[in-house]
Amino acid sequence: MACFAFAVTQGQILCQRVIAACVSVQYRLNDSDGRTMTILLTTLNARYAHAALGLRYLLANMGELTEQTTIQEFVIGLRPTDIVEKILAHRQPDQKLIVGFGVYIWNVIEITQIVAILKQVAPEVVIILGGPEVSHETDKQEIIRLADYVITGWGDITFADLCRQILNGPKPLMKVHAGAQPPLTELKLPYQLYSDTDIRHRTLYVEASRGCPFKCEFCLSSLDKTAWPFDIDQFLAEMESLYQRGARLFKFVDRTFNLNIKTSLKIMQFFLDKLEANPADPVFAHFEVVPDHLPDALKEGIRKFPEGTLQFEIGIQSFNPEVQSLISRKQNNQKAAENIRWLCTESHAHLHVDLIAGLPGETMESFGKGFDHLVAVGPHEIQFGILKRLRGTPIIRHTDEYALRFDPQPPYTILENRDIPFADMQRLVRFARYWDMVANSGRFANTLPVMLGDAPFARFMAFSDWIFANTDATHRIALDRLAALVSQWLQQHDNMPAEEVKALLAGDYAGSAQHQQGASHKGQQAKEAKGKSTPQRQRQHLAA
Ligand code: SF4
Repeated sequence: MACFAFAVTQGQILCQRVIAACVSVQYRLNDSDGRTMTILLTTLNARYAHAALGLRYLLANMGELTEQTTIQEFVIGLRPTDIVEKILAHRQPDQKLIVGFGVYIWNVIEITQIVAILKQVAPEVVIILGGPEVSHETDKQEIIRLADYVITGWGDITFADLCRQILNGPKPLMKVHAGAQPPLTELKLPYQLYSDTDIRHRTLYVEASRGCPFKCEFCLSSLDKTAWPFDIDQFLAEMESLYQRGARLFKFVDRTFNLNIKTSLKIMQFFLDKLEANPADPVFAHFEVVPDHLPDALKEGIRKFPEGTLQFEIGIQSFNPEVQSLISRKQNNQKAAENIRWLCTESHAHLHVDLIAGLPGETMESFGKGFDHLVAVGPHEIQFGILKRLRGTPIIRHTDEYALRFDPQPPYTILENRDIPFADMQRLVRFARYWDMVANSGRFANTLPVMLGDAPFARFMAFSDWIFANTDATHRIALDRLAALVSQWLQQHDNMPAEEVKALLAGDYAGSAQHQQGASHKGQQAKEAKGKSTPQRQRQHLAA
């Protein structure tokens, strides 16, 4: 988590807005050859809106090298040669350049290309890699073969140390350096490095703790074994400063926000105080929580947040106890379901709940059962993910017994396993895509319950198979066409009269787009009346 770049969810990987952002702070020192040197910290974010917290941690902890260091962020989708050109623009005649790359699962292909080009046109540029994608299996990666140095794990302190060695000698002998993991009190917090532009236009990622005490085998955080808290008063003072500068959107990257309830309450109270003092200009906070741990004190705090100000990301992953045991995930399913239900009915929090298909031991049938259970519990969004093999995660211990076969290219999505053949895994991938378009978009809020009926997984899978057979597309289906396809499916599959389907869809945003009846407002009202909608302000935040 504390590496060069910054973790985002799989859904965010897909977005490719081609915008480059730049933050410049720079000074120069002499290297051992007597030449001046510049240090550039860079990465490719999944979106312009994602400001890289990891790069800012590195810059904040550069010590005497701070003014010699620059951050320049790019967005995936730019041409690698154009990025190389921008990187080399930092080079001056007779000056050496060190470039630190934050490498993640969503940018490793592009950064490999960039490093390869850099090594062709400017082999003297010193390249240091860091980030989760290069922290494991270091002997197997082309990008590591091309680079000069690699830092595994935390880079906050080690990156600056390595630069000092490169600058002052003796030249580091090893290519791979294990990142030091100092007490968090020794790290300089990076939040003042969010610029006014970041505050106005980008998601501000913040962390009150690092690490996770749980051991879910598909997750890189399972290697942490514990969680480390930042000093809460110092952290909140930084949040206060961001708030005073105009920040209103705070996305916490803590793996388990509700681990230490005392701390959670203090953070929530910080936001409640802001909401009370300035209701006309509310803050919005996003937290990741474990679902089976919501003590009453926390519930009381949650209950006080008005609509559109609080979002929880909740990992369920699987409701199957055998799968949970296989992947070392401890979860009280009954408690988790009760708490999600409570959040849906008793709070205004927007819930985004994750399930993963393709886990070892999970069949189509057991996954479908878990999916139906979750639909019945009623979260606002179900994020349907497909298992990925993240480098370094212990899930591979099941490879032989469960015949796990992963795509060798990032993001290393599972292709098939012992219980789900390739063809069915493809159907699940398409299901996930159509689920986003129809269910998570909120644009079919009236129609969706009819589509799902009393067998949500089976019926939506039937819809997914049908729409793919009729369109051969899982992307770029315009909303009016999608509404027409939903209408057609309901008529053909359920023998619903055309007028009935038309009336149903007319209450939806999607239906109004199709029929041009100006019913979007009505549809929105209907959704909100059902408590299933995402308020406009949240939509803006979620789109960030
Ligand atoms: S999935 Fe969540 S709870 Fe499990 S190890 Fe990862 S961060 Fe921790």
